[in-house]
Amino acid sequence: MALGLGAAASMAGGGAEARPAAWTKSVKPFLIAPHIYYVGTEGLSAFLITSSDGAILIDGTLAENAALVERNIVAVGVPLKSVKWIVSDHAHNDHVGALARIKADTGARFAASAGDRAALESGAPRGDTDYDQTGFHFPAIKVDRVVGDGDSVTVGEVRLTAHLTPGHTPGCTSWSTTVNDGNRPARVLFLCSLTVAGNKLVGNRAYPAIVADYEGTFAKLSAMQADIVLTSHPERADILGREARVKAGNAGAFIDSAALAAIVSQARQDFEAELAAARKIRAKP
Ligand code: ZN
Repeated sequence: MALGLGAAASMAGGGAEARPAAWTKSVKPFLIAPHIYYVGTEGLSAFLITSSDGAILIDGTLAENAALVERNIVAVGVPLKSVKWIVSDHAHNDHVGALARIKADTGARFAASAGDRAALESGAPRGDTDYDQTGFHFPAIKVDRVVGDGDSVTVGEVRLTAHLTPGHTPGCTSWSTTVNDGNRPARVLFLCSLTVAGNKLVGNRAYPAIVADYEGTFAKLSAMQADIVLTSHPERADILGREARVKAGNAGAFIDSAALAAIVSQARQDFEAELAAARKIRAKP
């Protein structure tokens, strides 16, 4: 299967030459759930979780969006120096590109899983792909704390727990927390990318465990539950559509306990189709 440059860019990272305009387009930041704000762009998510003692930033989007994301953080009432921790979903330039700059400007510490550490600290994504990754490097960011599966980052009363969900990258990490939505707690999952997105599934020398990792991640996520699912590419969880429905009067538009199973099921089907195609190509004489 040939991946067009545009497809590779929209799914995997995006060299400057083929990037969707929405990725750098500003949107007014908004509240998703109590203490959780959207501070990203129209096409790339960044989330801010606030507490009585500082905030946690999840993802930063592209390097060139750093100032825009910082303005969004300030616009929701959080001084930059109040950001205490930064985490990411995975080490691709469209999600972590801005983080080195935001880390320097906030003084926050950065936590990430071991699988993405080398990529984050070198600025070069790991794993073999169908596309040329040289246009997809990003400013390197030092990892201050390595988190394992089930470890938490805490700020004030907020606890954000890491779930290792490798495949899209070796260190792809989903993060969960609980918010009090009205009278009842709502389980929030910041889901790491699940797409194949140009990753080599067969003959991936830099990431030989890739297929087993994807399969393990799909099994793990199938056993998890969440009331609110948030994705680093906002359209995958219809984040802006849900925000529009909140504005139109549906206060519960972000609550969707069926979303996780639907997203995982679709991603698994897509993965299996790509894996079958890759094996077929490989098997040809
Ligand atoms: Zn990615």
